[in-house]
Amino acid sequence: MEKLFPNGKKPTVVFAGGGHAQLYSLRRTRELVKDGLDVVLVNPSRFLYYSGMAPGLLSRTYRPEDARIDVRHLVEKGGGRFVEDRVKGIRSKTREVVLEGGASIRYDAMSVCLGSGVPGESPGVTRDYLVPVKPVENIESLRRKLRSLEENESDQKRKVLVVGGGPAGCEVACNARRVFEEHGINGRIVIAEAGDALLESAPGRARRKIEEFLRSRGVEVLLGSEVVGIEEGVAHTGDGRKIGFDVAVLAVGIKPPEIFRESGLATGDDGGLWVNRYLRSISDPRIFGGGDSVAFRGEALRRLGVFAIRQGPVLFHNLRAVLKGEPLKEFKPQKSYLYVLNLGDGTGLAIYGPLVWRGAAAWKLKSYIDRKFVKEYQYPEDELGEAGTYSEQLPAKDAASLEVDSGSPAGTNGESAAPGSRSSETRRPSVL
Ligand SMILES: Cc1cc2nc3c(=O)[nH]c(=O)nc-3n(C[C@H](O)[C@H](O)[C@H](O)COP(=O)(O)OP(=O)(O)OC[C@H]3O[C@@H](n4cnc5c(N)ncnc54)[C@H](O)[C@@H]3O)c2cc1C
Repeated sequence: MEKLFPNGKKPTVVFAGGGHAQLYSLRRTRELVKDGLDVVLVNPSRFLYYSGMAPGLLSRTYRPEDARIDVRHLVEKGGGRFVEDRVKGIRSKTREVVLEGGASIRYDAMSVCLGSGVPGESPGVTRDYLVPVKPVENIESLRRKLRSLEENESDQKRKVLVVGGGPAGCEVACNARRVFEEHGINGRIVIAEAGDALLESAPGRARRKIEEFLRSRGVEVLLGSEVVGIEEGVAHTGDGRKIGFDVAVLAVGIKPPEIFRESGLATGDDGGLWVNRYLRSISDPRIFGGGDSVAFRGEALRRLGVFAIRQGPVLFHNLRAVLKGEPLKEFKPQKSYLYVLNLGDGTGLAIYGPLVWRGAAAWKLKSYIDRKFVKEYQYPEDELGEAGTYSEQLPAKDAASLEVDSGSPAGTNGESAAPGSRSSETRRPSVL
């Protein structure tokens, strides 16, 4: 097997997956390189789509270039290397990470944040009629499918079925409605939820408000409707009903990748890499991990970007500490956090512990925090500075994607779309 970076004298730090939990470290690649480390990021794409902006990306409140971070740029700018590939397995005994492309990389320390997929679906797989809501980049494929419903010659309404009434399912339904309105698509949107309420883990007021809101926007809400099978055009519920659709969106929860189990590493029940309070694998002390793909102390924290992002500084510290033999830091999950749903009509539904409010201010707050956060990672301490100059330096295929289907301009919510905040201090968002 080809060795991409045969171990020389420099210790190698591998970032497996360039997700939200890795951003803090990737932005500090230069510090790791100055420590004398070889830094390698393995990710299937140079871009990470920021999940808090994903529903707004669907409705083109944000353009793709507003909502994505060039993780390749982050790592290469700091003197690290980017490998466009997927991790296939981890060989703990020989300290190798094996890539789908056939190569392997030896690690001295590794941070693993591979994100998640949707139960029942292989990551990265979308079928013509079915789009899993994870990984987040699937949102672009969903938008294309919604837009293709414009070509409806018949009088029959097109139907989008969202399976799962959690936060992601509700936000997708709200923003799909906006796509229909903006493009004059004659369509119905239906949410099928197995439980007896939407937003199951939210306070009662939030559950009532989201249901009221969705119904007021013409979205059909089917509660107590567990979808147990989907084939082209039809979903089957546990009680024998059939729901027809043109496009189905699967938003039924989160599933970590199988890689950890298959590699013989200790995992939680759902296959997430079991990490201790230092975010360190209990099987391999050289491996750390965060975000959706880990089981924190054996259990899944809520799979939210707010936790992934807060884990970033701990991962960065502990990767360095383990190589220098210094004390590790603990990750202490925050008890309360603000979560704002983008309702697609210029309002948001904000939930903070037991507090719930809906309105334009909630959406503006979310949008402000999200934009500010993303900009700090888009052009960090950057000599390139302006977006124009930056995109000129992208390879043609990536620069071209900046032009594709950008729909309505960013900033429709009144926020500035100007790129390039260059503050050198990263502020942690309390909301994504
Ligand atoms: C529609 C939607 C809206 C959401 N909104 C919010 C929100 O408002 N607030 C909030 O807190 N959370 C939100 N979330 C949840 C949030 O997306 C996740 O919790 C967060 O993305 C987890 O970050 P992560 O670092 O674990 O993984 P991710 O950020 O998903 O990144 C994983 C990375 O690993 C890469 N990868 C995957 N497999 C491999 C492999 N085999 N090899 C190499 N690389 C790989 C992926 O390409 C990706 O770059 C939302 C989710 C969805 C679906």
